Amino acid sequence: MFWVLRRRHLLLVLLVLLALALLFFRRGGKAPSYRAAGAPAGRQAAVTLVIDPGHGGEDGGAVAADGTVESLLNLEVALRLREVFRFLGWEPVMTRESDVSIYSEGAATLREKKVSDIQNRVALVNSYAAAVLLSIHQNSLPQAKSVHGAQVFFNRRGNGEDLAAAIQDCLNSSVNQGSAKASKAIDTSVYLMEHIQCPGVLVECGFLSNAEEAARLSSADHQTVLALSVAAGFLSGMSGGGERTEPAP
Ligand SMILES: [Zn+2]
Repeated sequence: MFWVLRRRHLLLVLLVLLALALLFFRRGGKAPSYRAAGAPAGRQAAVTLVIDPGHGGEDGGAVAADGTVESLLNLEVALRLREVFRFLGWEPVMTRESDVSIYSEGAATLREKKVSDIQNRVALVNSYAAAVLLSIHQNSLPQAKSVHGAQVFFNRRGNGEDLAAAIQDCLNSSVNQGSAKASKAIDTSVYLMEHIQCPGVLVECGFLSNAEEAARLSSADHQTVLALSVAAGFLSGMSGGGERTEPAP
């Protein structure tokens, strides 16, 4: 336990230093121009980061063969991501902080609850003048159980595409080694990503349909590496990084 904690902290420090170094050098040594939401009084927040752990409550999302439920992994990774951003001086807004669905009173059936939940997530994101959404999900492709790896999707608003490319780069260097993927525009049928007015990035952390990856996704160490990679990519993308690198075929 002690060894695990120490290793996690070492990883955290290393990756955060890497992210800060990337920021510093990509801006030619100048401090970044954006400011974190929740910045000290007197400094107006320029961008509000909204972290969205997908699904929750009655809506578990995808399920692995061993019964691992997507909504819980999404929450675990998202809370780690919030921890990393807090360490960096940001105060992200969460769409949920526990295993709940955020539907309004009056929603009765599961379908009504799902619709209300996703509409409330859209309204929350759109209530901020300048937000960026990071939505955390787990993928599943039961008909092709060998498929694995993290992939990043973006909506076509603001710098969403650049952020997604930068996050994908970091994930390719950490959890996708040997099987790099390219970031992609998300299908317009994904309601949340289509209806928010700000840049949105959706991270599919891995495939629950792949038994080995599902086991990794449940581990604290792997979740920490995912959170650090997403944060490092996000910061790099916000500072103008994220130039496209073609992944290996
Ligand atoms: Zn999902």
